[in-house]
Amino acid sequence: MTIFTDLTLLAMRDGLAARDFTARELVGAHVTAVEAARPLNAFIVETPEIALAAADAADAALANGSAGLLAGIPVGIKDLFCTKGVQTTAASAILKGFTPRYESTVTARLFDAGAAMLGKLNLDEFAMGSSNETSAFGPVISPWRALGSQAPLVPGGSSGGSSAAVAARLCAAATGTDTGGSIRQPAAFTGIAGIKPTYGRCSRWGIIAFASSLDQAGVMARTVADCALMLEAMAGYDPKDSTSLNAPVPAYAKALSGSLKGKRIGIPREYRMDGMDSAVDALWQQGIAWARDAGAEIVDVSLPHTGEALPTYYIVAPAEASSNLARYDGVRYGMRVAPDGGTLNDMYEATRAAGFGHEVKRRIMIGTYVLSAGYYDAYYLKAQKVRALIAQDFEHAWESCDLLLTPTAPTAAFGLGAKMADPIAMYLNDVFTVPASLAGLPAMSIPAGLDPDGLPLGLQIIGRPLDEQGVLNASYALEQAAGFVAAPTRWW
Ligand code: GLN
Repeated sequence: MTIFTDLTLLAMRDGLAARDFTARELVGAHVTAVEAARPLNAFIVETPEIALAAADAADAALANGSAGLLAGIPVGIKDLFCTKGVQTTAASAILKGFTPRYESTVTARLFDAGAAMLGKLNLDEFAMGSSNETSAFGPVISPWRALGSQAPLVPGGSSGGSSAAVAARLCAAATGTDTGGSIRQPAAFTGIAGIKPTYGRCSRWGIIAFASSLDQAGVMARTVADCALMLEAMAGYDPKDSTSLNAPVPAYAKALSGSLKGKRIGIPREYRMDGMDSAVDALWQQGIAWARDAGAEIVDVSLPHTGEALPTYYIVAPAEASSNLARYDGVRYGMRVAPDGGTLNDMYEATRAAGFGHEVKRRIMIGTYVLSAGYYDAYYLKAQKVRALIAQDFEHAWESCDLLLTPTAPTAAFGLGAKMADPIAMYLNDVFTVPASLAGLPAMSIPAGLDPDGLPLGLQIIGRPLDEQGVLNASYALEQAAGFVAAPTRWW
């Protein structure tokens, strides 16, 4: 008997095309899995009726030969993407009850391709976080547990609902967004694959903004090929997003190749950091050996400003966030708290005080501080200059290599609550992911091994602008070498 929820996206597509099963059966099995997995808190809203209606439409399209790329494929949507007629909150109390009248470009493309939306996935509030603990809807619990332990672990963040849902086999794939690592780090924590394409590859139109010069949509799925197919459906030029890139989108899945012959893979020496978990370092060395076996030439490269990436990000991202979040004022969207007899300013203050959580307030305060007249030059302007140097580091590296191979995160998943009291420790999660975000480069995490506690670890491939195919191919080669088959044992 086929266990529908264990199939890869490509196996689902092939089974549907061969009419081995119907989209209704496939999507129905996932609807049941979503209901059974409520202890994970991965979904903020479940939309079984939308999923089943899409399944029926897919069955009809499959029967008459008009099926799209993702006909009948069950997917989850991060609740940062506006979905027409379905509550969209960014996991913030300030947007509870907000129902968009429009569809984000990315979700519109997925639905046009026939994907069936199971619901809206939990995340860190406004995508600010690395553990999915800042959500106003409560934390997401990872489906994974360390060997011999019942202690709840974080699924990574901010796309923690997406990572948990894909790892727990609740959907074939999910959308994520990545501003500083929010696709790659949660993918690494939950033993799945995730790609953040080049900045501008996927339209930002209809995605709730965090830091606009960094935000980029991408895919989380269990295999590289599954990510490739989803990305193909999502990506592409959109005149509604002024930073959208007008470049053709290749048929990534068809062009996948696991040979790295003729490719030079750079190993950035600054990524070897004090305090890096020894299992992470060992896996990195293993990854280098796998890449060499697949035909790559390994080269030592230097990205001298790597150490400045995190402080730069934590100036630029909060600055943009403080500006983007100014729109939540109690007038236009969601929550309104209007004290009796109060002024307009009282309403703004009361609404924002009640509507935003701690981490969001911290970012708004940092952001307004670094943008304030007295400190703009010292912080924001300086950070912009350092950002340019970080991008230049990569440009120099591309003179001697085609791709970069690094760990995705410095540790495996940590316990729920372990880092909430220490924002710096939380921010350090992004040390390996943030540089590619600041430079706008495509980057992918693949599950590559387990640490001594039996928890997944990821490897990251970074590529040149618009070379998603190169990133996917190298990831595919490493995926084949790693042969990662571990899955969480069901406890929910
Ligand atoms: N963890 C990082 C932050 O908190 C990145 C988040 C993201 O990529 N959305 O800002």
